[in-house]
Amino acid sequence: MISLQNVSKTYKDGDQIVHAVDGVSLEVGAGDFVSVVGHSGSGKTTLLSLMGGLTKPQSGSVTIGGTEIWNLPDNDLSAFRNKNVNFIFQFASLVPTLTCLENVLLPTAFGKSGDGLAEYARSLLEMVGLKDKINSYPSRLSGGQQRRVAIARAFINSPRVVLADEPTGDLDEATESEIMEIFRKKCAEGTTFIIVTHNSSLAAEAKSRYRMSAGRLERAS
Ligand code: ADP
Ligand code: MG
Repeated sequence: MISLQNVSKTYKDGDQIVHAVDGVSLEVGAGDFVSVVGHSGSGKTTLLSLMGGLTKPQSGSVTIGGTEIWNLPDNDLSAFRNKNVNFIFQFASLVPTLTCLENVLLPTAFGKSGDGLAEYARSLLEMVGLKDKINSYPSRLSGGQQRRVAIARAFINSPRVVLADEPTGDLDEATESEIMEIFRKKCAEGTTFIIVTHNSSLAAEAKSRYRMSAGRLERAS
């Protein structure tokens, strides 16, 4: 489903070079549940962003569903990404002037819109426990509720892959286990998950477990 071959990404910090991701190779199969743990600054967010085609590596190749993504023209890449991959970012990143329902529907603006979509968006908001907030604006929601909207939004295009960066980071335990239940359900339905997390029980549950350390990826046991 996703294949990284010897992928590296460096950043310049003054006259220093930071090897954020350093020669990482990884195969993620369709329907896999992958967890990545590691200290702050070890390269986890950069790795996710490389896996989803948001960041271009300096070297190495990134293949999603058999397509070498950096060989696609720019326009095709955004369409491809929009169709195949979805991100749950560390912070909810909702559009404040749109309602919850409109936020969930936002990624579909690129794709085809259909009558069923609004209905589906409602069912996703219901799934994350926000049935009564469908027409509310993000500023009226708590941080945890905003996070749930972002999670609902991640599923609107029925992505084959969900890349989640500490998706349950600031949630209470009860909400966290509800969100995990949703991920399990979607995974059982065939969605591929790559999750960066600080939560060791969440990480332990994954079929494939990795640890990032100074830009290197290693198997975690
Ligand atoms: P993590 O998610 O594990 O905390 P990141 O992938 O965010 O790690 O960062 C890895 C390293 O790359 C860190 O040293 C960070 O400071 C650096 N880095 C990340 N993004 C940038 C950027 N846009 N510009 C410069 N340095 C960056
Ligand atoms: Mg990070």
